[in-house]
Amino acid sequence: MTPVSPSDERRVLGGVPTELLIGGKWRPAASGRTLAVEDPATGQTLVEVADGGADDALAALDAAHTAQPAWAATPPRERGEILRRAFEALTASADDLALLMTLEMGKPVSESKAEISYGAEFFRWFSEETVRIAGGYNVAPAGGSRIIVTRQAVGPALLITPWNFPMAMGTRKIGPAIAAGCTMVLKPSELTPLSSLALAQVLIDAGLPPGVLNVVNTTDAGGTTGPVIADPRLRKLSFTGSTAVGKSLIRAASDQVLRVSMELGGNAPFLVFADADLDAALDGAMLAKMRNGGQACTSANRFYVQRDIAEEFASRLAERMGALKVGRGTDEGVLVGPLINDRQRAKVVHLVDDAVAKGARALCGGAALEGPGHFYQPTVLLSVPAEADLLKEEIFGPVAPVVAFDHEDDAVRAANATEYGLVAYVYTRDLDRALRSAEGIKAGMVGLNQGVVSNPAAPFGGVKSSGFGREGGREGIDEYLDVKYVAIKT
Ligand code: NAD
Repeated sequence: MTPVSPSDERRVLGGVPTELLIGGKWRPAASGRTLAVEDPATGQTLVEVADGGADDALAALDAAHTAQPAWAATPPRERGEILRRAFEALTASADDLALLMTLEMGKPVSESKAEISYGAEFFRWFSEETVRIAGGYNVAPAGGSRIIVTRQAVGPALLITPWNFPMAMGTRKIGPAIAAGCTMVLKPSELTPLSSLALAQVLIDAGLPPGVLNVVNTTDAGGTTGPVIADPRLRKLSFTGSTAVGKSLIRAASDQVLRVSMELGGNAPFLVFADADLDAALDGAMLAKMRNGGQACTSANRFYVQRDIAEEFASRLAERMGALKVGRGTDEGVLVGPLINDRQRAKVVHLVDDAVAKGARALCGGAALEGPGHFYQPTVLLSVPAEADLLKEEIFGPVAPVVAFDHEDDAVRAANATEYGLVAYVYTRDLDRALRSAEGIKAGMVGLNQGVVSNPAAPFGGVKSSGFGREGGREGIDEYLDVKYVAIKT
């Protein structure tokens, strides 16, 4: 990796738009307010960006609503080619975009680069899906009429994204919305708006017409999006974030009977059976736990390991996690960045202290690191009792609790003892057991002998309190299309 210099940082920060994008124009918030974007590794303000409110969001919806008919009528190939050009532009400027993301979010630059590549792939995938929006034509079984089935853009969409994957969570929604012919208002997280603003500029440069994508940053998420959700011109809400906020948005969306997609929290179990390839399980555990410093909805939250190998697994995991260099994501050799803010770090401190007080043993880490910045040591806990809060809640930090189990049934039962159902990981060499576990665990996704499931060509999403709807895969575009049936008398 080329070392990052302060002048690189200044150049990248100086090149990003800092206003709201409404109807194809960058403009300040109607109130004139700005919000400070902070570097979580230093606590310093990086840059100020416009802090929008309800008036701005309604102006953005107005622009999206005005642009909707012409955009839906744009030839699919043209929409696909805009996405393809944006894919290429993201790929070409991956270094700068990765640095920008690291500055506002904290993850190591190498991980930011991987996210730019993953995020860009949604544009390539959906550029290919744009021209495959298919319908049907049938003779009615009783004769006398024909059945035509077609799929049409839902209409203006509100897209709300979290801070942990500031680029990929945006492209995963914007890609299929563009492909389907929907216009949109994007509200990124107030903690990491810069990646979304840079992404919007990439799309403008790729030829996206004015009003198709509008971006509103705000420190008042509820007050700004509430009037948009209540407005009958909006037809779709796609949200990625916490289950608590998701539930309140589902309630709000019911008033206008909006189409809704919800990508919510997780509490992923990671099962390791005694017959597993232990080296592969450890590699998978490192990925599933440490990607984004544990701040991922897919992060392995609970390790259930068969009793014969539990001690060995935990101590080898502790050796690897304890050796990771923690620091600012721009620094040479750093593999673990800071947590996003002090609130998140205080939660991790509480969860680890609670588990230790209830009998868990820390094999490495177990404490916060000195500031500035919101750092926490990579931590492995063994003998974690079932009552520990961190087995029930999303940790969102670099902490791996290990629990021993005896029988396959116990492991699957424990895996399912949660309100969440986003992803599960299973390591075993026994094909029958792998399939039984994959079928028995209630989750939208299962990684079999694999520690990362995210793939733009696959349907990403959860069940239970992890949400509904799918992003990516053949299914992703369906979230932005309504099915219409036309009956023809013959
Ligand atoms: P969050 O729910 O606090 O915020 C998510 C987004 O919602 C942000 O843009 C925020 O400003 C906005 N928001 C907050 N309150 C709102 C309100 N009342 N009305 C409208 N918008 C509101 O979540 P977060 O802390 O940014 O992200 C972490 C959470 O996201 C975790 O629970 C994680 O599991 C989840 N997540 C899920 C997926 C997935 O695909 N399932 C992916 C990434 C993150």
